[in-house]
Amino acid sequence: MSVQLTREQLLTIAREYGTPVYVYHAEKIKAQFQKLTSAFSILDTKIFYACKALTNIQILRYVKSLGCNIDCSSFNEVQLALHAGFDPRQILYTSNGISFSEIQDAVKAGVHINIDSLSNLEKFGQAYGHDYPVGIRLRPNIMAGGNMKIATGHDRSKFGIPVEQHREILNLVQQYQLHVRTLHLHSGSDIKEPEVFVKGIEILFDLIPHFPELEVLDLGGGFKVPYSSEEKETPLPELAHQLKSAFDLHPLANGKSLQIWFEPGKFLVSECGYLLVSVNVLKDNTKEVFAGVNSGLNHLIRPTLYDAYHRIENLSNPDGVMKPFTVTGYICETDTFATDRLLNQVREGDVLAIYNAGAYGFEMSSNYNSRLKPAEVLVEGGMSRLIRRAEQFEDLLRFQENL
Ligand SMILES: *Cc1c(COP(=O)(O)O)cnc(C)c1O
Repeated sequence: MSVQLTREQLLTIAREYGTPVYVYHAEKIKAQFQKLTSAFSILDTKIFYACKALTNIQILRYVKSLGCNIDCSSFNEVQLALHAGFDPRQILYTSNGISFSEIQDAVKAGVHINIDSLSNLEKFGQAYGHDYPVGIRLRPNIMAGGNMKIATGHDRSKFGIPVEQHREILNLVQQYQLHVRTLHLHSGSDIKEPEVFVKGIEILFDLIPHFPELEVLDLGGGFKVPYSSEEKETPLPELAHQLKSAFDLHPLANGKSLQIWFEPGKFLVSECGYLLVSVNVLKDNTKEVFAGVNSGLNHLIRPTLYDAYHRIENLSNPDGVMKPFTVTGYICETDTFATDRLLNQVREGDVLAIYNAGAYGFEMSSNYNSRLKPAEVLVEGGMSRLIRRAEQFEDLLRFQENL
């Protein structure tokens, strides 16, 4: 059964809170979390929500209430997670390219840490030796996921320590008696093939015997969710079975059974989110009809940045004739949400819903063109409430005047 907000619910929210507005549906996050836990129940697994997808503090609290752990990509995210009430042991900090001082802050906070460079690994060894367990982020050199811009595991990627440098890693481990608890991989986003994760784990299997204190294999995130009706999400039950057989084929070193960690971001929060916008102007340029909306790449940059497809629906005119519209924003850049998209006849003033807006939507928003960031609303148990107010003009000046 699909968990979704209805057209009427969305229209009511647009009327009550105005547009543009981001709407999140709590029960959808819960349903996605349950899919993960039930598929992976055949393995010893822990789920860490990659919160860079959506960090609204109420969302973090809700995710915590589900019993989910959290993965952070900056120390500020670690602080948000602590603020939301997560226990340090539920928090994972997977860093890349950060200064060592942030790693020291993370150690002080007592959270799990994955390190992604030989340089920081060496500094870690010098500072903590065997005293603080650590994870090592490896670059598996596999190309995976939706497109090059969101792939992180290939052989030109900045992420992780290339596996072919395992000698250097082992030297550091030996020199500083590092307590390596976790080996980590994160190959990219929008990965629909279970085989990518299996390939990743195969690469790790070869390294396991070198790390006697290993407890965790962290396979990162990147599960795919459908953005269009032709797309399918990563088949999790199949993935779980493939991983289980891979484990069964590899009797593990030291007789220890390893725990598997995952860091899904998009999978948990993409589909729970809707960006509601209103149509400002219709413009017929004879080749196409533009529907210019009161939003743009300042609120949702994924179409511009990644050529991402987002399903769009005209909520106000569900019985209108289907016609092609090019949905564009109001920013002084080409910020096209959709080209020649078939929509129910669009009229000025209509409210459009942009789907799959929960992950990397509000989170990547900006004040470009001195536009204001929109409100965020959470629907839980059929009730909606404001979880971030819309910015006002004064907010633009807040950090500039009276210094
Ligand atoms: C971004 C990120 C994730 C989440 O990726 P999704 O595609 O949103 O699932 C997980 N782990 C790490 C290290 C990341 O950087």
